[in-house]
Amino acid sequence: MRITMIGTGYVGLVSGVCFSDFGHEVTCVDKNAEKISQLNRGEVPIFEPGLDLLIAKNTAAGNLSFTTDLAAALEGADAIFIAVGTPSRRGDGHADLSFVYAAAEEIAGLITDPVLIVTKSTVPVGTNREIERRMRAANPSARFDVASNPEFLREGAAIEDFMRPDRVVVGVETDRAREVMAEIYRPLFLRETPIVYTGLESAEMIKYAANAFLATKIGFINEIADLCEKVGADVQQVARGIGHDGRIGSKFLHAGPGYGGSCFPKDTLALVRTASDYDARLSIVSAVIAANDARKSAMVGKIVSAAGGSVSGKRIAVLGVTFKPNTDDMRDAPSLVIVPALRDAGADLVICDPQGQKEGEAMLGPVAWAGDPYGAAEGADLVILITEWNEFRALDLQRLGAAMRGNLIVDLRNVYRPEDARRHGFEYVSIGRP
Ligand code: NAD
Repeated sequence: MRITMIGTGYVGLVSGVCFSDFGHEVTCVDKNAEKISQLNRGEVPIFEPGLDLLIAKNTAAGNLSFTTDLAAALEGADAIFIAVGTPSRRGDGHADLSFVYAAAEEIAGLITDPVLIVTKSTVPVGTNREIERRMRAANPSARFDVASNPEFLREGAAIEDFMRPDRVVVGVETDRAREVMAEIYRPLFLRETPIVYTGLESAEMIKYAANAFLATKIGFINEIADLCEKVGADVQQVARGIGHDGRIGSKFLHAGPGYGGSCFPKDTLALVRTASDYDARLSIVSAVIAANDARKSAMVGKIVSAAGGSVSGKRIAVLGVTFKPNTDDMRDAPSLVIVPALRDAGADLVICDPQGQKEGEAMLGPVAWAGDPYGAAEGADLVILITEWNEFRALDLQRLGAAMRGNLIVDLRNVYRPEDARRHGFEYVSIGRP
């Protein structure tokens, strides 16, 4: 199949590259000329493990290319995927669909042969029908079908998730659309990946329901962690104990500083907004959003109280600022709340993150950066671990302690065993553990 991918962000780039690896001929388009010239120079604009090798392999094989020229990219396409951003709309929290509709209308003016328009961006119920309506209005003679194909990949494990997904969701209404989608995903079908065919509205809803459910699991275990701290239970033991129950499942039961990232915060909010448009109540999801927002600030309180009631004049080493490990993505990361609050409280901060500095410098304001965790800890009164990069999982605690002025570790990801930290002379504070 010939595929055009509109938008080469985290999702568009990974999807386009993986489709080319399936053997399809893929052209990736982006409005950002700098991104496209980077890709054409063989550089990868985002950090995603394994992506560089897959890009090199498929560009060399001649079935993957990058351009800013939309008209050229659409020529002969069987399917055009829209994978542009759908951030929260300023002010009201609805999904901002302006990038999606702008892309659809641009496409409408350029297509000549029958083609399938596939929405991969996360979009609220009704968007695919509105895309179709707008495209027909822009070009009444255009021949196309629409399909909804939400994406479930996780940053940091995006290639594995795309190549071996738990399922693929395809919302279609015509046989032609179903045939094209079946052909595109045939390599996965051969690996017995479940392909869930639905109508357009159901496919759109599946994506939001999935994210809201996962966010709820995190919100739930975080509140259980707070209670564990008060009653002397250990949230990790509790999570293991409930996670073995097949009805519950062990994933997404890690207590921490609250979820962040480019999806859960905006998608839960957009879902609640959709519900209120339709006069429906989503009280559980609303509570999860409120609990998660409160949690990020509560982490600041936890750090300040661990530091004896004030961080003013204290030197703090911050390990990890990206919203999770193995990505350079900082969108809605808990660190964006924690770091500025500590700075405003008078702390002197030094940050170390294996990939976060480029984004972080722009988003976190004036802080110092260190190239490794021991450098960050030099002269520090306390160390805070916010993101559980592998680089921070097996620190030499002896060396860390020797570099520091104080002896406090606040571990917001429960990476270390309290007894190990204490054995090395640390005062150790973690989440939901006695
Ligand atoms: P992103 O911001 O990283 O990338 C979007 C890209 O689209 C940018 O490079 C931008 O320049 C480009 N773009 C915008 N308008 C364009 C146009 N008209 N023509 C060409 N290019 C255009 O976004 P992302 O994180 O990849 O997310 C994309 C969509 O996928 C969102 O709806 C998101 O909710 C969804 N999603 C994201 C993830 C994730 O982990 N990031 C996972 C699943 C789903």
